[in-house]
Amino acid sequence: MILLALGVLCASCASSFDVTVSNPFEVTTFRKSYANTHLVKISEDKYLMIDAGSADNAETLDADLRNHGIKPEWIRLLILTHGHWDHAGGAAYFQERYKIPVVIGSGDQNLLVQGHSDPLCPTGMIARLRQSGDFHRAFTGPKPDVVVNQDLSLDQWFGPGIGRVMSVPAHTTGSLAVIVGNAVFVGDLFRGAMLTTEATTHFYMCDVPGAKRLIQELLTVKAPAAELFFPGHFGPSIARREVEDYARGPH
Ligand SMILES: [Zn+2]
Repeated sequence: MILLALGVLCASCASSFDVTVSNPFEVTTFRKSYANTHLVKISEDKYLMIDAGSADNAETLDADLRNHGIKPEWIRLLILTHGHWDHAGGAAYFQERYKIPVVIGSGDQNLLVQGHSDPLCPTGMIARLRQSGDFHRAFTGPKPDVVVNQDLSLDQWFGPGIGRVMSVPAHTTGSLAVIVGNAVFVGDLFRGAMLTTEATTHFYMCDVPGAKRLIQELLTVKAPAAELFFPGHFGPSIARREVEDYARGPH
């Protein structure tokens, strides 16, 4: 059982990247250690960055972006889906080095100030093994440029009708989802499965039924045309039907 757990943990720590065409935009996803950073190509020299990985991966992420033809200077906005170390830890690096404005949900501002997580609710064995390390993992958060209380349009950075940000308070109280074209970036509202294309419950979630209600709301009200969902872990994209199956399934 322990060997199996270690195998699963190591399978998730590989560094990789994927390119997904998500009409009408191309999404390049870099996976470092445990977390996805998504780069949405809005136009040739205009990119949206969603999550920044951990602080100790920031320099290699910077190099990987350049190696894949994405100049960090082209990133117009960095949206943090939430304030955990593996999503927000690298944000200060990109903000300071490239003056990229950073967006965070109002409920997670305190996580950037305190530089670590609030108490976590593990949903399975892997999370129970990782809980202490994830809770205590410290980082220096960025000073956010934009704090989201309700929905936020991306018009001022990318032009009319490109996308919007909305609050999905489940994994953390300030968690955000980002809708761009037919894609929805969900952070840790749910995650991809390690070995299949399914959606599944994130490692940490205090109110799983509450998270599923928010997913249903995205599917039916807030992003009814969404076809692809990009989670913070695994994926890198999950088809709508898989998300519908997950949201309908037992808690
Ligand atoms: Zn998280």
